[in-house]
Amino acid sequence: AGAGAGNGGTRYDLEKETELRFEVDAGEKVQLELLTGLAEIFGSELNRNKKYTFGPGSKVAVFTWQGCSVSLSGKTEVAYVSKDTPMLLYLNTHAALEQMRRQAERDNERGPRVMVAGPTDVGKSTVCRLLLSYAVRLGRRPTLVELDVGQSGVSVPGTMSALCIERPADVEEGYSVQAPLVYHFGSTSPGTNIKLYNKLTSCLADVFSQRCEVNRKASVGGCIINTCGWVKGSGYQALVHCASAFEVDVVLVLDQERLYNELKRDLPHFVRVVLLPKSGGVVERSKDCRREARDEKIREYFYGFRSASFFPHAFDVRFSDVRIYKIGAPSIPDSCLPLGMSQDDTQLKLVPVTPGRDLTHHVLSVSCADEGEEGSPVCGFIVVTNVDTQAQVMTVLSPAPRPLPRHTLLIMDIRFIDLK
Ligand code: ADP
Repeated sequence: AGAGAGNGGTRYDLEKETELRFEVDAGEKVQLELLTGLAEIFGSELNRNKKYTFGPGSKVAVFTWQGCSVSLSGKTEVAYVSKDTPMLLYLNTHAALEQMRRQAERDNERGPRVMVAGPTDVGKSTVCRLLLSYAVRLGRRPTLVELDVGQSGVSVPGTMSALCIERPADVEEGYSVQAPLVYHFGSTSPGTNIKLYNKLTSCLADVFSQRCEVNRKASVGGCIINTCGWVKGSGYQALVHCASAFEVDVVLVLDQERLYNELKRDLPHFVRVVLLPKSGGVVERSKDCRREARDEKIREYFYGFRSASFFPHAFDVRFSDVRIYKIGAPSIPDSCLPLGMSQDDTQLKLVPVTPGRDLTHHVLSVSCADEGEEGSPVCGFIVVTNVDTQAQVMTVLSPAPRPLPRHTLLIMDIRFIDLK
């Protein structure tokens, strides 16, 4: 490993069942090319002689079951080969789930519903992606349920969602998001409104179960549920609630024996709770790193990726043309609350928000709901870029041109500053 590859890159020859791990520096990008053999990134196969680009902050593992050589060019923070990976255990887990799908197919039952749990930075999202990619590569149609409101792989932060997976995640861009079902939570931590969090979990479980009743492939495919890294107190209770709402059959606990024992104790005996090691390659992310990842996710929503750039629209919206609400008590500025309303008013109610300067930079979900109706999914997001209280209008950034498709807007306590 480490010899020149002739194209300015560094060549790595990987033996079977090893992986090349690398991180990309801030402000840099790195190009990867598969030269010989077979390799995959988090379950998605690489094409030979195609250049894959990874942007700042990417943390990647190129794994090979059979052996391969790759070339890496650009500035990496670290790049090394590891022989010590839990991939065989993850593959065996996939094989067990596939066994359950086959059985479900035969006996006209439903496929495995799997909850992935563990503290932050143990590779939960990565394991979900791996299991989904392996399943879809066998022709299955599993559903990803994304309950990590801090780092959603499906939609912008502050949302909870479900997505039917029809192809492996794109090596560079992640899941291709065609028609996800997305609910507004409004904050990056379940603790800001745990009641709402649990309610939306139940909502997603209901919708998924309904879909399974009418769609045999979805039912057999089952689901993989990604959860938050908050595993104590109410966070733990939220995991137990999720397991029961989705009637999960399998719980994969990454890295934490205590959580594993607690879940084994508290979940019904027919739930298979499995402890899996985390990969040594998983990198701990700092607060800043997380914030940047969230920002990037919102930027992507409006501007797209390199390969498919979007051109968002900016336009004015009259206060009188929209109804802005917050759900329950997550902290938004007091001045946004109507007179006489306090922060601890009921947690699930739609509370009208009086538009003011404080709205600036907030992300708003555009609700599919008709006037005042509760519990609907969202159809998109906008960001308030300016508020003119005199003229009673706000300027928004929107993926689609005016007018807004709906008039009910839900405020997030997440902000996005548009630097473009
Ligand atoms: P969690 O969901 O538990 O917070 P993630 O799955 O998001 O953790 O993983 C954290 C970070 O580590 C991600 O940026 C991911 O790309 C990276 N990562 C995961 N597995 C590996 C690995 N084997 N080698 C290098 N980086 C990895």
